Amino acid sequence: MLSADFLHLEKDVEMVNEYADWFHLDIMDGIFVPNISYGFPVVEAIAKKARKPLDVHLMIVHPEKYVERFAKAGAAYISFHYEAAREQSASLIRQIQDMGVKAGIVINPDCPVEAIYPLLPQVDYVLIMSVFAGFGGQKFIPESLDRVRAVKSRLVQIGRPEVPIEVDGGVGPGNAADLIAAGAGILVAGSSVFKAENPVQAIAAMRGEAL
Ligand code: ZN
Repeated sequence: MLSADFLHLEKDVEMVNEYADWFHLDIMDGIFVPNISYGFPVVEAIAKKARKPLDVHLMIVHPEKYVERFAKAGAAYISFHYEAAREQSASLIRQIQDMGVKAGIVINPDCPVEAIYPLLPQVDYVLIMSVFAGFGGQKFIPESLDRVRAVKSRLVQIGRPEVPIEVDGGVGPGNAADLIAAGAGILVAGSSVFKAENPVQAIAAMRGEAL
């Protein structure tokens, strides 16, 4: 939703309700990432109109302080950065799950995938950043495909192939098929949908459907 039209947010919310699967909300604090996005009033406003699950991606320091408020604001999925939580990650995953919310762990492109392997038995989903967190409209980093493959094969190895891998950053019709083939199950698209001439067509193209 970072690329949505905030003056006509309801219109974009209805478009997602109608054609997409999830609302992906990027929360930036100006500390963990050098940018600030939006906060609780916007999330609550979207939650009121959303008929699809809210997926809240926390790009903030001290995510443990805010997960409860985001859960109460209507999040069905909450992910936080491993780089922001480190050794607290396991307890934070439990904290999120105890609220009845699905918990995801996120890594930036410069974080070795192996860092999150100990958490894979516990998480509900994994978010692999295919750009550096903090800004919309960046170009997809092609090495992300190998990172998806690596996490996928690890998940298969530990007997949890059903855990979805989400990819976020520079995702669009041009790389969707490659990402799915690599093992991704959830594609986050911002500017490639909202800034497209025809957003509905862009979503269909990502699904591999012709319109
Ligand atoms: Zn995101």
